[in-house]
Amino acid sequence: MSAGIIEGAPLAEQVRTEIAREVRALRAQGRAVRLVCVQVGEKPESLLYVKSQRRLCHSLGIDFAVERLADTISQTALLHKIHELNAAAEVTGIILELPLPARIDAFVCQRAIHPNKDAEGVHPVSLGLLVYGIGHHAPCTAMAAYQLIKSTGVDLRGKECTVVGHSQIVGKPISLMLLHDLCTVTTCHVATRDLACHTRRADVLVVAVGKPGLITAHMVKPGALVVDVGVNRVPVLDGQGQPVLNEKGEPVYRIVGDVDFAGVKEVAEWITPVPGGVGPLTVTMLLRNVTEAAKHFHPLAG
Ligand code: NAP
Repeated sequence: MSAGIIEGAPLAEQVRTEIAREVRALRAQGRAVRLVCVQVGEKPESLLYVKSQRRLCHSLGIDFAVERLADTISQTALLHKIHELNAAAEVTGIILELPLPARIDAFVCQRAIHPNKDAEGVHPVSLGLLVYGIGHHAPCTAMAAYQLIKSTGVDLRGKECTVVGHSQIVGKPISLMLLHDLCTVTTCHVATRDLACHTRRADVLVVAVGKPGLITAHMVKPGALVVDVGVNRVPVLDGQGQPVLNEKGEPVYRIVGDVDFAGVKEVAEWITPVPGGVGPLTVTMLLRNVTEAAKHFHPLAG
């Protein structure tokens, strides 16, 4: 039997309704909820992202602003701007858009954001508190993956979970989240000797690598819950395996995950699609971080 598809959009809608309610309640107490996106240089690819963030913030009653800084800005000047935003009481969340010019140390700048305003949940303090299971912020993508798992109602206690990928923003934090639910967690990475041996054992399999087709049906335990975090742009091929071209003669691309969706959905009990699974929930989790920050850390908060 084909797996149940865990769609991200309905869950994202539900979380957004909760966020909008909380923002209204905060505003009624005269408390601001404001997200500032710090952008260094003009990046055409991020314009669309910023536009959709702005639209979503407005629809939830969250103020949104972009601090556009010149591509030539020094690290000292960028740090000064971040400290200014840290000190501004009306700013409750800050995003530092990456990548930064090579001469700027991105980690130093990310660490300069006050942990209470860490909208993306990637500050060492946020990650440290995640170890204790007491933080208000966590990396958005890991949280989105975790919420999708929880939305199935599967009892996680004692489950075998395999996470493929150990990045700071996805693999490591989702491993910790699952550990807090008393799962037995195996985290795989580039040096894992026999990946299939670990994935085949998993009741819950989370894949966050960035390699299309990495996980095939024979690597998945029948009845598993599979969350595909990967986002990969691959050329569309015709029946002869040749790239399909558009009217301008350029290859046509599509987005796929790391999991062979068609094959794995025949083995798994639950699976997230790509696109349409983790993606729609990730930006919503960012706004939840901003709202949580406003609730817990605002100077007027009790
Ligand atoms: P990343 O920082 O590049 O991490 C990839 C991880 O995969 C690394 O830990 C790497 O291990 C591991 N890896 C590489 N090859 C492997 C293999 N053959 N077997 C097992 N592990 C392997 O990427 P990321 O930021 O975590 O993102 C992962 C994927 O999620 C990407 O496709 C990204 O586009 C996508 N993503 C999606 C969203 C969303 O909202 N849907 C958000 C963020 C990211 P080593 O470090 O040891 O090499």
